[in-house]
Amino acid sequence: MSTGIASGLAGPAIAEALLHAWETLRQAGPIERAIGLLDAVWPEHGRDRWRALSIGDRDACLFLLQASLFGEELKTVATCPACGERLESSFAAGAACPSPTHWPQPREPQQLDHGPWRIRYRLPSSDDLMSSSGDDDGGDPVASLLRRCVLAAERDGRAHNAAQLPDEVRRRIGDAMSEHDPVADLRVGVTCPACGHAWSAALDIVAYVWEELDDWAQDLLAEVHVLARHYAWSERDILALSPVRRRFYLDLLQA
Ligand SMILES: [Zn+2]
Repeated sequence: MSTGIASGLAGPAIAEALLHAWETLRQAGPIERAIGLLDAVWPEHGRDRWRALSIGDRDACLFLLQASLFGEELKTVATCPACGERLESSFAAGAACPSPTHWPQPREPQQLDHGPWRIRYRLPSSDDLMSSSGDDDGGDPVASLLRRCVLAAERDGRAHNAAQLPDEVRRRIGDAMSEHDPVADLRVGVTCPACGHAWSAALDIVAYVWEELDDWAQDLLAEVHVLARHYAWSERDILALSPVRRRFYLDLLQA
């Protein structure tokens, strides 16, 4: 990686951490998976900090994780909404989302002035999303999120709480959040070669990394299975082999 902040993502310790994450997060939801994966690979930053990062900053780290572990190239499959053509496209992770040049920190609160309103808010984090089920806000997760992320709201100098904000102001806060944290809702431009229709498709990096991890873990355990059955080596010993040596023995078995 050109940034250097993700160097050293190889070796048995990382493989073991990733296998453990794969095992324990299989039933987890996307936010827990995102945090669990980042914490497995870069535990020195602490779970609390990963949870407190804005969604876009967190996802930028997931792009870096993806590129460092599984390669720069992202492949996606989409169906053209105009003609139904199935499209396979690929692009570089760094082109979709520039790699962070330093480890992100939770962001400072932002200020939004809109007409008579002055709003102080912070960008939503994984913690906020996990706590914003809407249970306490009449089933409205956006209201829950605003209650957590709007730190102060004034109209003509008089304080209001987040539940009193008119729809227009809520929308403006949502727009401002997206503007300041664009990777949180990352979209890639796609053009259908069959009919020329162009649109922007959402790219869900959490789901993408998880799928790659799932493939990797299943392939690795299948290798362990073959080697253990043939040589009666322990799982631990097989996982401690470098991928090159593992491949060598597997090739011998197939020769
Ligand atoms: Zn088309």
